[in-house]
Amino acid sequence: MIERVIKGIPAAPGVAIGKVLVLDGEDFRVNKRKLDDKSLSQEIKRFRGALLKTKKEILEIKQKISAEMGLEHGEIFSAHILVLEDTMLIDDVIGKIKNEKINAEYIFLEVLKKYIRTFAKLDDEYIRERLSDISDVGKRILRNLLGTTSHALSNLKEEVIVISGDLSPSDTATMHRKNVIGFATDIGGRTSHTAIMAKSLEIPAVVGLETITREVEPGDVIIIDGSNGEVIIRPEKETIKKYESLKLKFKKFESNLTKFKHLPCQTIDGRRVVLAANIELPEEATSAVTHGAEGIGLFRTEYFYMNRKDLPTEEEQFHAYKTVAQKMVSHPVIIRTLDLGGDKFLSQLEIPHEMNPYLGWRAIRFCLARQDVFKVQLRAILRASAYGNLKMMYPMISGVEELIQANQVLESVKEELKKEKISFNKDIEVGAMIEIPSAALTSNILAREVDFFSIGTNDLIQYALAVDRANEKIAYLYEPAHPAVLKLIKTIIDNAHEAGIWVGMCGEMAGDIILTVLLLGLGLDEFSTSPIILPEVKRIIRSMEYFKAKKIAVKALSLSTAKEVENLAKKSLEDLKIKV
Ligand code: PEP
Ligand code: MG
Repeated sequence: MIERVIKGIPAAPGVAIGKVLVLDGEDFRVNKRKLDDKSLSQEIKRFRGALLKTKKEILEIKQKISAEMGLEHGEIFSAHILVLEDTMLIDDVIGKIKNEKINAEYIFLEVLKKYIRTFAKLDDEYIRERLSDISDVGKRILRNLLGTTSHALSNLKEEVIVISGDLSPSDTATMHRKNVIGFATDIGGRTSHTAIMAKSLEIPAVVGLETITREVEPGDVIIIDGSNGEVIIRPEKETIKKYESLKLKFKKFESNLTKFKHLPCQTIDGRRVVLAANIELPEEATSAVTHGAEGIGLFRTEYFYMNRKDLPTEEEQFHAYKTVAQKMVSHPVIIRTLDLGGDKFLSQLEIPHEMNPYLGWRAIRFCLARQDVFKVQLRAILRASAYGNLKMMYPMISGVEELIQANQVLESVKEELKKEKISFNKDIEVGAMIEIPSAALTSNILAREVDFFSIGTNDLIQYALAVDRANEKIAYLYEPAHPAVLKLIKTIIDNAHEAGIWVGMCGEMAGDIILTVLLLGLGLDEFSTSPIILPEVKRIIRSMEYFKAKKIAVKALSLSTAKEVENLAKKSLEDLKIKV
């Protein structure tokens, strides 16, 4: 058999080499039995019993996961309970048992398959996300009807790499963590539950491989390269050797990081900058700390609103924000208020379809129009501010009136809390994300209304250069080092400093290590990026002199093209003998 490499989406970094455990093709042997009229009510009772048993099991898992991994992970199972309480599905099954006089498991499996087929065809992300919940719960109900026990994951005797169509939340919940050394799945994206779980468990994983379940046989040896999103099936001896050493390197790199993490992020000549992490889930704060983050520079909050039918409650958000604030001890945690729209859609908030969603009713524009939704989040943030060093910022500010209005809503929420005698930090720092050229160009005016800026380069670049950030056909035009982008960044930083406020960057550009020297030289005070990139940024900053970085930035601002700027930046790294 020849070695084969399959490319997927990197979900959690690291290397794993081992035997596979294929979870797909769970083969339920369901026989068809004809029932007589007398046994119909008994059969319906049996079906209801299985539903009840399944609900009990799921509630137990929910409790266990909430306690072990945090409330947000536990919340995933609320969606499962919803499936169990779906009257349409239940009535469909009961109706068919009565009419067709066939046994419950056979009818249930038929109905389940029909649901899955119909849902799979729908062009709605929320519904497609629900598919895995439906099939996960469906399998449990079937197991309970058939009286079989749950599959292999709950009782692993040796180390395995789990291969599955999708790894359901209840699969991950019941598995024996010690023995699962890697995941690979057919479906899923970077933010699928599987990927999120793998990241927080720090297990190397690749998702979105499309055909992996069909390509491997039980017992095959495979390699998971979670950093590059590759899986190598039936590797040659040489390949295994190569990856063994990569695995060691990765481990060494990781442990070197721990040694490095206490050193300050400071240039040779004493310019101190703050290194912070971008996170989407409270659990990621742990990884931020181990990678040396001195705070959370961007806590995206859209995740709370995704994959569900209802809106997140104040209580739920309060707990999540509080958890992160406490985890980061006295370090700052910047919570970004809801930034829905663009490529982040939330199905529970019937947002009309728009021609230009990136330029549409999104982020702060939405929040100011739907203050009922906005205020719930502001209350949660303010309440959590009593438990740590919380700050907050608004996304997509386009001008000062919008910013003043947002601050007025915040003040009204503060008044409410005061009246209710609920404690919060009255002087909570408030920032504006600068990610629209109009905000960059009027940042001298905006600076009077806030305590800090955070530059959102992902959007700033797309709006400044008129390049859709998600369109791969024009990706070559998406140039962070474009002279126009540099000029905007310089304007923002200079205006902020003149007004006496600090300025960070939380767009991906802050983690583009070729450009670190440039951003440092432009005077950026805080770099916020994925935890895993932080040590590299720190290494560069610690090898540099600020006065030299400033000179490089001045030179860069005089250049005509992104290519020239990049070459200058690369050369400065070579001069420092830094390989990137
Ligand atoms: C940005 O636009 O740079 C940013 C950090 O926000 P998001 O990527 O969430 O739009
Ligand atoms: Mg943005």
